[in-house]
Amino acid sequence: MSKIAEVVLPLPVDKSFSYSVPEALADKLQVGVRVEVPFGKRRITGYVIKTQKSRSLQVQKLKDIIRVIDQEQLITDEVMKLCRWVSSYYICPLGKVLQSALPVKESFRFQDSEPEPVRDTKLKTTEFFLPTPEQKQALELIQDCIDKQKHCVVLLEGPHNSGKTEVYLQAIAHTLDRGKKVLVLVPEISLTSVLLEKFRRRFVRERIVVFHSGLRQKEHDLLWNRIRKGDTDIVIGTRSAVFSPVKNLGLIVIDGEENPSFKEEKEPRYHAREVAIERARISSALLVLESCAPSVESHYRALKGKYKLCRLSDIPGLEINPGVEIVDRKEKDKGQDENRSKIFSSVLLNGIRARLEAKERVLLFLNRRGFARLFLCRNCGKSIYCPNCEAPLSFHQPGFLLCHHCNYRRNPPQACPSCNSTDFWHYGIGTQQVCAEVKKLFPDASVERFDTDIFREERLPQVLKDFNAGKIDILVGTQMVAGEDISGVSLLGVLLADMMLNIPDFRSAEQTFQILMKLIQSLGGEKRCTGSGQMPGVVIQTYNPNHYIFQALKQGGYEFFFREEMRFRRRLRYPPFSHLCSITISGRNESGCAGIAEEIIETLKKEKEKEQLRKIEILGPMPAPIPKIRGKYKYEIMLKGRKTGLDRMARILHQQFSGRTHQKISVDIDPVRIF
Ligand SMILES: [Zn+2]
Ligand SMILES: [Zn+2]
Repeated sequence: MSKIAEVVLPLPVDKSFSYSVPEALADKLQVGVRVEVPFGKRRITGYVIKTQKSRSLQVQKLKDIIRVIDQEQLITDEVMKLCRWVSSYYICPLGKVLQSALPVKESFRFQDSEPEPVRDTKLKTTEFFLPTPEQKQALELIQDCIDKQKHCVVLLEGPHNSGKTEVYLQAIAHTLDRGKKVLVLVPEISLTSVLLEKFRRRFVRERIVVFHSGLRQKEHDLLWNRIRKGDTDIVIGTRSAVFSPVKNLGLIVIDGEENPSFKEEKEPRYHAREVAIERARISSALLVLESCAPSVESHYRALKGKYKLCRLSDIPGLEINPGVEIVDRKEKDKGQDENRSKIFSSVLLNGIRARLEAKERVLLFLNRRGFARLFLCRNCGKSIYCPNCEAPLSFHQPGFLLCHHCNYRRNPPQACPSCNSTDFWHYGIGTQQVCAEVKKLFPDASVERFDTDIFREERLPQVLKDFNAGKIDILVGTQMVAGEDISGVSLLGVLLADMMLNIPDFRSAEQTFQILMKLIQSLGGEKRCTGSGQMPGVVIQTYNPNHYIFQALKQGGYEFFFREEMRFRRRLRYPPFSHLCSITISGRNESGCAGIAEEIIETLKKEKEKEQLRKIEILGPMPAPIPKIRGKYKYEIMLKGRKTGLDRMARILHQQFSGRTHQKISVDIDPVRIF
């Protein structure tokens, strides 16, 4: 009898290959190790996913494994199960999933890591905690889940000062007390150090590591080794840490679960939240999703009873109620005494003036996302709408308007169809432009930007420090400020809220709401009573003041937002009422891309004739929202329908087109756009 190994390779083929195992390697070979194998004329590193014995003469025809790379199992059984799930759900070859889940280089070897020195144990591990009745209830529910060691998902939602973090810190302590390990996922690398500091203060005896793809190779391998050996208690990481080889896992926490950064943009295009749900299921662990404005999907699942819902409100005395004023920017509705500034309303200007006089700080927020696509009448505030869909058209070079749902296109109108005005917002505004105007209006104030330019100059930490120290009066920030540790803002001004809202994606309202909600929650801003009335702490300028997200922000209500958003999603059959699958065709030759896109559409339409696939909607092909990146053209086809149907279509696509064309065809299940 000879031994056969089933090996998957990091190639775009969705199958495993059989190799025979030479006698000399038979002892070393096991499931979950890397092996070097011949493939065509090359030698490739692959992963063993199965071994078996065979008498068959077929074995003689198989090629031999060249060598076994790992002395021990590299892929734990749990992580292997998880990767199989990712491969099947996201329709990505298992070899590719394993390659990205194991970010260890060829050179990686198992090593004995130095045990972390015993830490000072004189400090106590838990601080005094007197929970509110609400927190107590949430904590009891969570602790009960941990004790039962059954898979369970809890959505922990509530405003900034509701003590959510304290509740999950208690949950972590409870898990550690029972001898289990903890994994904490955060959306950005920059947040790991903030959390680490907080955790170190709290869990003085425990071994805590920060683990993400931004670490240097040597350090990364060392930590990976330690985690695998069980030499850590708490792992804090970004989305890729969901694959880290934590053993005896009792609890996963996702901090800010609504954040789009949890979605991986490269193959395999997984969402760390969905993978964490599966991971918790495999490990019979508890998953806690934390958020101040949860994703529509998560909140919906909680209401449906798939998750347990723990909702906290502000701790009495710590409520954030800065007073939100929505300012209508439509030219036609401006009063006589309104100034003519294109960027600032009088309400905001007066606010800034008053805060500067009081030596207080102002943050002006401008979401750059959607900058290039904005096309909107400045007089009546209306966008130009697609005659077939409910969607606003977006602007594209060299100068046409496009519907991203049905590919309808037209020239920009000379005059607004609603009010006949010829005054359009064509492009949004940029931070530089805002800074220049602020300096002109307030020559004595010190003004600084917080955007990608400053990031490239590596000046962000300094700017942040200066602002928090009061050396900067007015900070003009993009979405990069959300999540940063900014303090002492007494006025938050949101300049052109419509830019992000008009992005051609069904999640644009949700993402705009979440980012503004988070800013308001974490910065506060202060409502003031002055002689002439109330002065708001937050001023939002928009051409669409009746949009439900602004109404929701004004009343501080997630519920209100959720209800309206669900109405919109149900009407147009968007998630959570369907799944989406985006197919992108990219290449250097534009007509080549368009041709393949048409061919794919024809193939899929033929498939659609079949019984179970009739309800699937096929949209496109159309230029992708960003149609050309780094010299490559991108076309997009969107499928909408049930997951099983989408899977079948995507697999047919793989079978018929993969490896056949010069163009790259990629499939994204449950796409999340980050513009
Ligand atoms: Zn108009
Ligand atoms: Zn349309």
